[in-house]
Amino acid sequence: MIPAGRQYAVSELAKLELSAARRLELARMFDITGWIRPALADIILKRSPKKLRSITNDDRQRMTEDAYIAIAKALEAIQVERGYLALRPPPLQILPSCRTHAACQVVWPKIWFDLVAPRILNRVEPVPITDLPWIIRGIPSGKMEILCLLDTARAFKNNSVLQCEEIFVDQVTEVIKEMYFGRHTVVQE
Ligand SMILES: [Zn+2]
Repeated sequence: MIPAGRQYAVSELAKLELSAARRLELARMFDITGWIRPALADIILKRSPKKLRSITNDDRQRMTEDAYIAIAKALEAIQVERGYLALRPPPLQILPSCRTHAACQVVWPKIWFDLVAPRILNRVEPVPITDLPWIIRGIPSGKMEILCLLDTARAFKNNSVLQCEEIFVDQVTEVIKEMYFGRHTVVQE
């Protein structure tokens, strides 16, 4: 059981606008296991405002050097995955009703390389990989048949590559939990 006073203190702390590195430090100091993954997701997936996710030299010491290295490796692995993804447009779906499919085949790679790939490769504000099917749905189809574009986005939703970032976050979460809490019993939040 979690003592009520501790639970209250943790919930009050959670309301503060703390940097991801500071949250990792507090999680390690006070065995707050539930904070590890959200803090790592903020850093690795760059979801929160920049000042809350960036890592200063002080932060590196706060989170411990080993954890920093694990995070840096995950960031690098994700960048490699993004590079592969950007270079390979998802397969174009062929709708039997499309009478201009030759044009679709020409336009689709252009749409991908001009409008989607740059957003995948943007290091400052990278789009979440899981959002790509929705991004494809929203881009102007130009000379491409809109139904072929929509069907291509729909088929892409089932591609396992879309989960790669979440999987890297899960993996580094396990590694860092082992570093921080591996040798003693942990209070679950
Ligand atoms: Zn078509």
